[in-house]
Amino acid sequence: MIPVTKPYLPDRKKLDRYIDGIYERNWLTNNGPLVQELTRRLEEYLGVENLLLVANGTLALQIAYRVLGVSGQASDTPAEAITTPFSFVATASSLKWEGVEPVFADIDPDTWCLDPANIEPAITSRTRAIVPVHVFGNACEVEAINEIARKHNLKVIYDGAHAFGVTYKGESLLKHGDAATLSFHATKLFHTVEGGAIVFKRKEDLEKARLMINFGLSGPEQIDELGINAKMNEFQAAMGLCVLDEMALVTQARKQVQDHYTESLAGHLKVQKWNESCQSNYAYYPVVLKDQTALLNTLEALKNEGIQARRYFFPSLNTLPISSVKSTMRHSEELSGHVLCLPIYAGLDEASQMQIEKVTLKGGV
Ligand SMILES: *Cc1c(COP(=O)(O)O)cnc(C)c1O
Repeated sequence: MIPVTKPYLPDRKKLDRYIDGIYERNWLTNNGPLVQELTRRLEEYLGVENLLLVANGTLALQIAYRVLGVSGQASDTPAEAITTPFSFVATASSLKWEGVEPVFADIDPDTWCLDPANIEPAITSRTRAIVPVHVFGNACEVEAINEIARKHNLKVIYDGAHAFGVTYKGESLLKHGDAATLSFHATKLFHTVEGGAIVFKRKEDLEKARLMINFGLSGPEQIDELGINAKMNEFQAAMGLCVLDEMALVTQARKQVQDHYTESLAGHLKVQKWNESCQSNYAYYPVVLKDQTALLNTLEALKNEGIQARRYFFPSLNTLPISSVKSTMRHSEELSGHVLCLPIYAGLDEASQMQIEKVTLKGGV
């Protein structure tokens, strides 16, 4: 069976050495030395400041909303945030979970990111934030979104779960927005088994979040904030440190797969239009099939060959009951019905790639 993605397992001996250290120190969680080391290493690797490690990418979003006052404020009418319908469910469900109404605005049919032109018409007196997604690692139109946010006094929280290591105009894409979040789930490009991070624009927001993820405790007997438990532990950080050491290998292997697919498929199937100022991280390989029937046939044909492709992202989030406002999102719904992510991971061999290409071309064009 060829899975759509495979969690990357780093060198076992190195991981064992980190775990030996955890046993010697008997310090398992609560901002331990490995969490501190991974924080420093990630800030350096990504080229960002004010990075906070958390237990997972969904909590990263929730904490960012709280810290920035998007959620958790007393109000008679529910707050709203404008977000994209073409994403993983956590982007919208995390808002709803925080008591913020997700209001969808349609995507650009080519880049698949939130179209800035659709944001302003969705703004109401209750709107507090814009929550765009750098979908499949493709940079949103950050300047245009920033301008709208400034004009209407809104916060911007980028769901950067796919954007690990992506650069935009030569700098980390995660520097844009009041905050950008990452997911380090096992299936993501870089992982800590489960985990995530928030990159804050401002140091004071980082400090507030640091208290918030540890019950609001600023000392053993001092509670300053309403908090929750969203801490990363030492075992997660150990995995992260080992994977980070091997990121060059991971990236190189994925690039080879992406280049192979692009050469065979991109002339025949529609692919995502990449932001020209943005450098890919090779996290996903989505292709668009000509219609729903072609998509279902291709999925079935791949399955018969022992190959798993995934319908990322289906269904379009505006069609789910989490959205209390009924809306039609033409581009997102159309794309959701036609898009398939092909297997991409370090260790996918060339024979398998060729087989995947053959089946996809036969069923999908
Ligand atoms: C994976 C993912 C998340 C959730 O992250 P977890 O670490 O699994 O909680 C959120 N948003 C997007 C776009 C994702 O792909």
